Amino acid sequence: MTMHVWSYLEEYREERADILDAVETVFESGQLVLGQSVRGFEEEFAAYHGIRHCVGVDNGTNAIKLGLQALGVGPGDEVITVSNTAAPTVIAIDSVGATPVFVDVRREDYLMDMEQVEDAITGRTTCLVPVHLYGQCVDMAPLREIARRHGLKILEDCAQAHGARHHGALAGTMSDAAAYSFYPTKVLGAYGDGGAVITPDDETEENLRRLRYYGMEKVYYVTRTPGHNSRLDEVQAEILRRKLTRLDAYVAGRQAVAARYTEALADTGLVLPALAEGNTHVYYVYVVRHPRRDAIIEALKPYGISLNISYPWPVHTMTGFSHLGYEKGSLPVTEELAGEIFSLPMYPSLSPEAQDKVIAALRDVLATV
Ligand SMILES: *Cc1c(COP(=O)(O)O)cnc(C)c1O
Repeated sequence: MTMHVWSYLEEYREERADILDAVETVFESGQLVLGQSVRGFEEEFAAYHGIRHCVGVDNGTNAIKLGLQALGVGPGDEVITVSNTAAPTVIAIDSVGATPVFVDVRREDYLMDMEQVEDAITGRTTCLVPVHLYGQCVDMAPLREIARRHGLKILEDCAQAHGARHHGALAGTMSDAAAYSFYPTKVLGAYGDGGAVITPDDETEENLRRLRYYGMEKVYYVTRTPGHNSRLDEVQAEILRRKLTRLDAYVAGRQAVAARYTEALADTGLVLPALAEGNTHVYYVYVVRHPRRDAIIEALKPYGISLNISYPWPVHTMTGFSHLGYEKGSLPVTEELAGEIFSLPMYPSLSPEAQDKVIAALRDVLATV
């Protein structure tokens, strides 16, 4: 059987009784949409972060989209983010009618380069969207200072950073609003799609509750457009409640897998993940770098190991974003990294034996490429 970068099946076998009980609980509850499980999850996810509000939505892309709209971002605005991210970050910005503006990332940790943000601000900039990519936070202090000076909002894209800490603060608690995805592979994953926005602000929360519910303030009465139907599903919410109690254990499991890779691969010529100052890393992906990346991935296939690249194409180079007008070479670090990075199998239930297989195969292959 081929081994992939992500798998939920081993975890499901361990947690099966609890997951199926969650499904049964919702089916027996008498309320299949926006019932006690969504409410409960929202309260518990907010409490986990020590923040006032959480609003459950249908996926991470819409968490960013509704989060931006709730903060007042819309047509004509410019929103600064990075091109080294999952395309949905940028899709969400585009979908509210705003223009995505990209800055490059740092060569050491692949995260937003704060030195470039201020130069990208224009009279139309209204919001900054930092992406806590791969499982660790961007440098928030300079970003917050820039936002304060220019009167800009910040929305954190936390889709890869559940439970990550930055100088002690949890990801998602350092801005006006933060968007989460619970796509199954994520550090906190549902058994299907799910998302949430957390915010310390009462008005932003109000806006989010209306936006996800057709723009209605009360049943059948629309008070704002555009409205959406973007509710977190009740079954997914109940599963997420159960899994939230194990989030810190999932993170510890990922950190143990990462520590093993880091020790076993230190002398191989691979560039291993670098931890930025003040960060804990939750290793949504364990990203390594090598100039012969494509040959390595090819050579690992006969070993039954299928690796992933997050991400092979910088967003600004995709034809779907050609209207933004970025030339090749405009974000040199992002473009260089896209040709060299790849991700190793990473999930908390990855067994040491399976991981040893990956390490041995990689060592074989790296000796020959
Ligand atoms: C997964 C992801 C998203 C999108 O989340 P979905 O739930 O798949 O819509 C957005 N941003 C980043 C950085 C992601 O990793």
